[in-house]
Amino acid sequence: MAFNLTERLNQRRVGQLLRQRLLLDSPQQPLLQVDGKALLSFCSNDYLGLANHPEVIAALQEGAKTWGTGGGASHLVSGHSRVHQELEEALADFCGRERALLFSSGYAANLAAICALVGRGDSVLQDRLNHASLIDGALLSGARFARYQHGDLTSLEQHLERISGDCLIVTDGVFSMDGDLAPLPQIAQIAQRKNAWLMVDDAHGFGVLGETGGGSVQHFALKPNDVPVLIGTLGKAFGTAGAFIAGSDELIECLIQFARPYIYSTASPPALAAATLKSLQLLQLERWRREHLGTLIARFRQGAADLGLPLLPSQTPIQPLLTGSSERALHLARLLRSRGILVPAIRPPTVPQGQARLRVTLSAAHNTMQLEQLLSALAECWGKLSD
Ligand code: PMP
Repeated sequence: MAFNLTERLNQRRVGQLLRQRLLLDSPQQPLLQVDGKALLSFCSNDYLGLANHPEVIAALQEGAKTWGTGGGASHLVSGHSRVHQELEEALADFCGRERALLFSSGYAANLAAICALVGRGDSVLQDRLNHASLIDGALLSGARFARYQHGDLTSLEQHLERISGDCLIVTDGVFSMDGDLAPLPQIAQIAQRKNAWLMVDDAHGFGVLGETGGGSVQHFALKPNDVPVLIGTLGKAFGTAGAFIAGSDELIECLIQFARPYIYSTASPPALAAATLKSLQLLQLERWRREHLGTLIARFRQGAADLGLPLLPSQTPIQPLLTGSSERALHLARLLRSRGILVPAIRPPTVPQGQARLRVTLSAAHNTMQLEQLLSALAECWGKLSD
């Protein structure tokens, strides 16, 4: 056989990098059923606890009765249903943009946006810690691609000095493995001064940050012109699946005409759009979810500080606990698991060498007792880690 798959897998085994999937026998919620046991999970991106909301479930069921289960065709053939259209309009309104366009995943939306906007002869500049889908989008686009130091405006400006021609600056709104926010107001200013376009992937900010859940752009009170290309995903705070790109009428029309991941992919199920419409309503109406989440975040940070745990400086539901080596991250995750608590160990190459961590994610679905359980398990286990 031409490809030595055994060898490739063995390399991962040696580096303890072989990933394994958990098999869940329960819905996505704080208490998971895994291997016949209940585990208290701090792994999910269901930040507002909407993935099991009875009204969202009912909307999905009703949607399936009305629209069936499958999208049936791509949007440009015959897959674009009225409920997709309604959701796009509601999302555009929510973001204060002229239009929005739905995708089946954030991964596809990011590839689509970058590849439709830049190509050979153009440039893409990205934060070093951007999500893999943004990096893949840049590579696929054929544009010149460079990465500036994480959140570093001087590094961004230095790269921009070397660029002539059209440039797209791309950043996560909230960084998925660090939980910190990009300095969007400053990046937007630099982009405007240098005549570059700014694209923000707010997968982890939408629904969570800002007065009404409008994300990092709302958090920083930015205007549509500051961030002409805005990406939101629906599988996290919205509790459903898919993604959208929001922007000007012209931007969305260009994506419909030129974005290959949009044109050549089956529309997501219309019933899902019905469910997402409901979660969009709920995330605006049920403000208590964001407030409760804020209380949990503050309590977790205080509790971790009291224990002397090295948390990264994040104010979002993503609360990384640095362990340094991969072995320590795996060891801590195992110790917690033996106490019925599930927190993922994140290791290089997902994060830089020497910065392995436990990625604790909090959700409005957690109660305060569950949070205290996590803190007391961390108090017990941290001291047991070898250096
Ligand atoms: N962007 C970021 C920052 C993400 O964290 C993720 C998923 N983890 C994506 C995009 C991809 O979104 P999706 O899961 O909808 O493909």
